[in-house]
Amino acid sequence: MRILIVEDEKDIAEFVQKTLLAESHAVDVARDGVNGEALAMSEPYDLIILDIMLPKKDGLAVLNSLRVSGLHTPVLLLTARGEVADRVAGLDAGADDYLVKPFAVSELRARVRALLRRASLEKTSLLSAGDLTLDTATQEVWVDSRSIELTRREFAILTYLLHNKNRLVSKGMIAEHVWDYHFNSDYNLIEVYIRRLRQKIERFSKFKLIHTIRNGGYSLRDPRQ
Ligand code: CA
Repeated sequence: MRILIVEDEKDIAEFVQKTLLAESHAVDVARDGVNGEALAMSEPYDLIILDIMLPKKDGLAVLNSLRVSGLHTPVLLLTARGEVADRVAGLDAGADDYLVKPFAVSELRARVRALLRRASLEKTSLLSAGDLTLDTATQEVWVDSRSIELTRREFAILTYLLHNKNRLVSKGMIAEHVWDYHFNSDYNLIEVYIRRLRQKIERFSKFKLIHTIRNGGYSLRDPRQ
C-alpha cells in the first residue's frame, strides 16, 4: 500500500516512515501542509497520516480542502496531547481516526492496519486491463483466469502501471513510486523487472499489454479501451 506522511517534526516523520517501510508499504513524506496537500491530490495514496500543527497550512485546513475536493482517502490525524478540540474538529472534518503523540509503534501499526483494511473493503480492490486482473487486497494476479505468481516488487510495479493505465510511465516514476529513496538510480534493474513481468503475463495473455515507449518508459495499455 502507498502511504503519505505529512509531518514537520523530523524525528516523528522518520519513526513513522521506518515503521511503515518495515511493513512493506511505499511511503512519501511531506514536511508542510501545502506540499502535503499537493501530493495528496496528485498521487493515489491508500492512507494519509496527517499532523495537525504544520507550517504553511495546518492539518485541519488541509483535511478540509481534501474532503471538499472530493478526496476520500482515509486520514489518520496525529495530535499533541491536549488538542482535544482539534481532535473533535478533525473527526468532524472527515478524519477517520487519530493518534495522540507520543504513541507506541504497536499502536501506530494497529491503527494503520485497521484503516487500510477498512479502506480496501470499501473500495473495489480489482484493477484490470484486457485479460489481466490484479487484486490489491489479496495481492493475487490472474491472466486469462489463470493465477500467476509475482514477487513483491513485480507486484508493486504492475500495480503502479495499472493505476496509470494507458498513460506513459517513465522509469524515473517507477523508481520513485516503487522504490522510494532506496533506489540507487540503476534503471537497468527496472528493465529486468519489466522483462520478467512481461514474460509471466504474456505466457497466458491474448494481448500485448506492456508497451515500451522509445526513450520514454512504459505504457500498460488496455486493448479494450
Ligand atoms: Ca507538527
